Amino acid sequence: MRYIDNSKITLPTGWQDKSNEAKRQIEAGEKKINELSDIWRELKNNLSQLSFEKCWYCECKEIRSDDAVDHFRPKNRVSNTTPQHNGYTWLTFDYKNYRYSCTFCNSKRKNPSTGETEGKGDEFPLINENNRAYKESDNIKLEKPILLDPCELNDVKLLDFTHDGYPCPRPNISEEKRERVIKSIKLYHLDHQLIIDKRNDLALKIYKKIDEINSFLELHPDIEPSQSMQNELQDFMNSRNELSAFARRIIMGKREHDWIEDLICTI
Ligand SMILES: [Zn+2]
Repeated sequence: MRYIDNSKITLPTGWQDKSNEAKRQIEAGEKKINELSDIWRELKNNLSQLSFEKCWYCECKEIRSDDAVDHFRPKNRVSNTTPQHNGYTWLTFDYKNYRYSCTFCNSKRKNPSTGETEGKGDEFPLINENNRAYKESDNIKLEKPILLDPCELNDVKLLDFTHDGYPCPRPNISEEKRERVIKSIKLYHLDHQLIIDKRNDLALKIYKKIDEINSFLELHPDIEPSQSMQNELQDFMNSRNELSAFARRIIMGKREHDWIEDLICTI
């Protein structure tokens, strides 16, 4: 997960007016939300540009779904709430509530390894359920979401990985933050075997490259690794590339080598 500044989105000309009109139509009962789905779908490419076409939750690029625009706060209903929550309807056409997402992260499906159903679906659990907003006039800023939000820098920092590709909480964080990470891993399906395998493959490539450079330095102890030797490692950490946060974690795990410490300072 990388931080996404969604205020940097480029909205198509006239989109905000269409969004305002759609909100009015819903409030007046003239239309149903899903009759107006073209409005958020229209932003699919604009949202994807903010993340170099990667899912904001898992940093993978395989997004072919028509439903790639996830409503962070669900628009139709929220699961597991008492009283029943009929969705954050007033945020349906607010682009700040949109997250560009693959179907693994935003839809319910079974994890083949654990048999558990994972994926976000209609879930939006809170730490403080009593402060949940049920209508636009409620103070939404009082809500403390459990799910990590890629648009919150302090949330993104909480997610860490093991060297073999498993997502986990960053060490030395509070129990509450740990719980948030663990729940987010399940609800975003960040531990699906396919993505773990993909991270693992990337880690092996990174270790191979690091070993190559270390072997060269053993033979030539007076020479520093050249830029061209390090380019590939820098590329792995570039936010344009898939799983770049994981790549950075793996490379940082090797910072006992001085040249890697220097390399990280350049990112
Ligand atoms: Zn995803």
